[in-house]
Amino acid sequence: MPVYLDHNATTPLDARVLEAMLPYLMEHHGNPSSVHRFGRTGRAAIDQAREQVAELVNAHPSQVVFTSGGTEANNLAIKGVAAGKKPGYIAIGATEHPSVSEAASSLTKQGWKITPLPVDGQGRLIEAEVDSILHLGTALVSVMWANNETGVVQDVAAVGSKVRARGGLLHTDAVQAAGKIAVDFSASGAHLMSLSAHKFNGPKGVGALIVDKTVELEPLLHGGGQEKDRRSGTENVAAIVGFGAAASMTKSRLTDYAARLAPLRDRLESELRALGGIEIFGAAAERLPNTVCFGAMGIDGETLLLGLDRAAIAVSSGSACASTNREPSTVLLSMGVDADVALSAIRVSLGFGNTENDIEVFMTALTTQLRQLQRMAGRAVG
Ligand code: PLP
Repeated sequence: MPVYLDHNATTPLDARVLEAMLPYLMEHHGNPSSVHRFGRTGRAAIDQAREQVAELVNAHPSQVVFTSGGTEANNLAIKGVAAGKKPGYIAIGATEHPSVSEAASSLTKQGWKITPLPVDGQGRLIEAEVDSILHLGTALVSVMWANNETGVVQDVAAVGSKVRARGGLLHTDAVQAAGKIAVDFSASGAHLMSLSAHKFNGPKGVGALIVDKTVELEPLLHGGGQEKDRRSGTENVAAIVGFGAAASMTKSRLTDYAARLAPLRDRLESELRALGGIEIFGAAAERLPNTVCFGAMGIDGETLLLGLDRAAIAVSSGSACASTNREPSTVLLSMGVDADVALSAIRVSLGFGNTENDIEVFMTALTTQLRQLQRMAGRAVG
């Protein structure tokens, strides 16, 4: 049986979520903008999903704008805020996902200046640096709730109060945090928050941007005026219904998630440490209960990943979204990790289906692979 340990890349669709979606792919096929009963059925389903998603992150349903996923939500937040303002400064965390950093970089053509907020060796934002970098001219700050590669969790509320004190707007990419740890939009001080359903057993291709009512947001997509003019296009009703069902399910099992996965993660880490020559990135920081990112000295992470794949174990090297890219992870580089150590990185991300047996299978395969690779490296040198 293959062992799937790549849940930060994506998670399997839950059977209950699929069940909730199926009627909206078949009999309830109406366009939610239609006035007739077919349309009204779709509209009601979207309204219910909006409430379920809002409840997951303690937001108001009117603040939920459905999108095609986390990437679109991040782009909408950054470009949508910038479009309504005179170009100035945007500050973003040094370890942001490319859908934030590239969206921000694209604005430099219009005269925006992008300032990175540095992190320490554990991947945490450095508070004193945040204080010195933010100023009254910083229109927007984007700081992720939890990192996709290391699982390091940021103190978003602390950044929120600094940003608000300077009259700026705060966006947080909570794509990896929602469904894994408690995420409270209202308490965080954030004005905008991105979510994606496929990271917590919902369908791919659907997400949301949570938007505080004080934010002036220019849409990316113009057209029929869906989502209160913030995101035009006929809604993907079945996917939105699935997103809502996954949000409800995930909220009810949040305590269970940490209770089940943190002990597996801790066991994995202590066995990795016992191997020797292993560095666990961000180990001293607060992290998601499911994520372990480690480097094995002198080993190429990509080769190790392929060896594990041959043993039917799925993990990731660096970020899944950038797995065709052979550059060392910018997340690890910004934490001060040497490039060669960063190139050895492997990310294991656990999910609800994983068991103690999966950890045993992984450790056995890893030990075999490491021995082989070390022997080959020794032969190449000697
Ligand atoms: N933000 C983070 C932190 C992510 O990990 C990802 C996906 O890996 C995204 C955004 C993009 O989300 P989506 O896959 O829904 O476009």
